[in-house]
Amino acid sequence: MNSPRSVLVTGGNRGIGRAIAEAFIAEGDHVAVTTRSGGAPQGALELKADVTDGESILAAFAAAEDAHGPVEVLVANAGITADTLLLRMSDDDWSSVIDTNLTGTFRLVRRAAKGMLRLKRGRIILISSVVGLSGSPGQVNYAASKSGLVGMARSLARELGPRSITANVVAPGYIDTDMTAVLSDEQKEGIRSQVPLARYGSAAEVAGAVVWLASPAAAYVTGAVIPVDGGLGMGH
Ligand code: NDP
Repeated sequence: MNSPRSVLVTGGNRGIGRAIAEAFIAEGDHVAVTTRSGGAPQGALELKADVTDGESILAAFAAAEDAHGPVEVLVANAGITADTLLLRMSDDDWSSVIDTNLTGTFRLVRRAAKGMLRLKRGRIILISSVVGLSGSPGQVNYAASKSGLVGMARSLARELGPRSITANVVAPGYIDTDMTAVLSDEQKEGIRSQVPLARYGSAAEVAGAVVWLASPAAAYVTGAVIPVDGGLGMGH
């Protein structure tokens, strides 16, 4: 049995983030979860933070580290969509998605790396999306933010690798959560028909890949993009 690690999951109150937090709790780790709206799973330390607000991120890390010690595993999961076709996409649709999904993740990794560099170990896991690599009509902002995470992780892998810190991306396909609940039945069927496994994924299936990336078994994996998409993105 490994000793418990200090794990921080953003957006760990709902959907994929919640399943990730629950999976680390089941592993026996010390898990802090950030949320804006509350409702962290049982067994997690709940911290209020908005990833668009740098001060609230610093405060969340300070609280997590007071309770559990330096954050050894960061899962940057918080994300939003603001879908619309290009010609209707406002500056705000663009900047809110980039600020949350891409710049928010930058703020998190910059703070997390501080402690990991001192520890001389760490696991950084960024939650991207299949559409970051394939593109998607109506998601110019979202796809740009999610492909940006791949460049970010690969740069982190090179910069932090010599200190035994890995940085990887998990790219989920279509997963049953609040985010995809807004799609019409017709859209859902259209997507399902393109997935080789012919179904949506579950948040727990994404969590499985994240927990593995944080495990000793994945110590030599860095700069990787792990798809959890039922085969939708094969060929990326
Ligand atoms: P949900 O909409 O169910 O949950 C989003 C989470 O992100 C919530 O916990 C929310 O917190 C948090 N969040 C959003 N904005 C902020 C912010 N500014 N600051 C802090 N937290 C914030 O989404 P999913 O669980 O479906 O998605 C999780 C991640 O997985 C996202 O990055 C998403 O892009 C990605 N993804 C999802 C896929 C899917 O099919 N569902 C597919 C591919 C990728 P709060 O409750 O407080 O609002």
